[in-house]
Amino acid sequence: MDIYKKSIIELSELLNKKTLSSKEMTNYFLKRINSFNAKLNAFITVDEEHAKKQALYADSLIAKKKNTLLTGIPIAHKDLFSTKNVLTTCGSKMLENYIPPFDATIVCKLNNAGMVTIGKTNMDEFAMGSSNESSYFGTVKNPWNIDKVPGGSSGGSASAVAARLTPVATGSDTGGSIRQPASFCGLTGLKPTYGSVSRYGMIAYASSLDQCGPLAKNAEDCALIYDEIKGYDHNDITSNHEVKQEKINLKISKDEAKKITIGIPKEYFSKDLDNNISDVIFQSIEVFKKLGFTFREISLPQHDLTIPAYYIIASAEASSNLSRYDGIKFGHRCNNPKNLEDLYLRTRKEGFGKEVKKRIMIGAYALSAGYYDEYYIRALKIRRLIRDNFISAFNKVDYIFAPTCPSTAFNIGEKTSNALEMYLSDIYTTPVNLAGLPAASIPVGFNDSLPVGMQIIGNYFSEEKILQIANMFQKETDWHLKIPKEFDNE
Ligand code: GLN
Repeated sequence: MDIYKKSIIELSELLNKKTLSSKEMTNYFLKRINSFNAKLNAFITVDEEHAKKQALYADSLIAKKKNTLLTGIPIAHKDLFSTKNVLTTCGSKMLENYIPPFDATIVCKLNNAGMVTIGKTNMDEFAMGSSNESSYFGTVKNPWNIDKVPGGSSGGSASAVAARLTPVATGSDTGGSIRQPASFCGLTGLKPTYGSVSRYGMIAYASSLDQCGPLAKNAEDCALIYDEIKGYDHNDITSNHEVKQEKINLKISKDEAKKITIGIPKEYFSKDLDNNISDVIFQSIEVFKKLGFTFREISLPQHDLTIPAYYIIASAEASSNLSRYDGIKFGHRCNNPKNLEDLYLRTRKEGFGKEVKKRIMIGAYALSAGYYDEYYIRALKIRRLIRDNFISAFNKVDYIFAPTCPSTAFNIGEKTSNALEMYLSDIYTTPVNLAGLPAASIPVGFNDSLPVGMQIIGNYFSEEKILQIANMFQKETDWHLKIPKEFDNE
């Protein structure tokens, strides 16, 4: 039946027609995880009992006809979403044994819709990374080529969906962690407008940038998950009231498409970008032109300041957020501390990995008296400029297309000794977070047998249009249907 290939709507049809129960569907994906996960290391936790219980609940909803399209469908959550009574590690030794007493808002909403949590996915420690090599639980592999990274920090989620071990997964995006792994693994990923999805129960990295969203096989599945998780939440003080309540309608006519102008930022297609990637993107732009879209060149002038500003702001917020891991309230605690200071020092020395320590040190330095104005305040000013650049671009065009990453998936180990090179791989994704805008990454082709992703960036709260544009492209092309050979069997 090729269940692993099916979209959420197709899976839901199987459940509704009683071709399959949610219990059977859950078992099917658990079996795939058992067969393939050892190769990929995409999951940190697979709680079969918990999943089966949720599947039975879903089956009871279906029997009572109280189901929605999502009821009974398995989903994997990035391991930074708190899941009640299920281990939540954030990819860190610090939280190696942490069992949350509550569900994150998005987990709660998806549970209420009857979705089945099939497992918790591997990730860079505390979501800091672009390659999934900083996880305490080991590197995740890219299903397209297991010598390559899957991207980070939601690499476990991306690897799991790309190998079809789960129909869909959640991720978080502080500087690209949904879009970049989606791009490296040939998936569609949506980073929503800041404030449109609750961050309550999502373990914080950089609170003014963090936003969660779906990693899926296509735009339609992204829309279904986004519709369920979006909306105001009084538990999150940065939650926004302006999010539309109505469900997304993916239909867009050719006449509407003809009225849409898309900007191509010239700074994004410079020498930093691999020529082959640029070619693949321009080939896909030809498809969009045939669909009626108009293109024009735009400029986002402060582009080269993005990486320094992002890494100062993200690290500053991280150093503050991660101060809560002190060995007292929760998480790892060192053995036999001599005194309070020894407890703090050894707990943090043992509990955090190298990348996390580096960020805490950069952040604490940037926030310290004497350097605060020079680094942190300056980075905030750049952040404002970057936002203003987007706002003035959106006075000229409706949407912006951009590469997701300067390269395709790189080799495991290739960038671990060069932090700057690793950080530069976020050059096209971080501006969107600094501005708080929504953006999707969609697969638009291949280079050397590895997927290439392209971003569709929109103005605030334009998720519906972004997904319509993505969906229109996916009706014309089949890049999103490609599956890595090794995993393309039952
Ligand atoms: N690679 C970026 C970082 O390490 C983005 C990570 C993310 O979006 N969580 O900060």
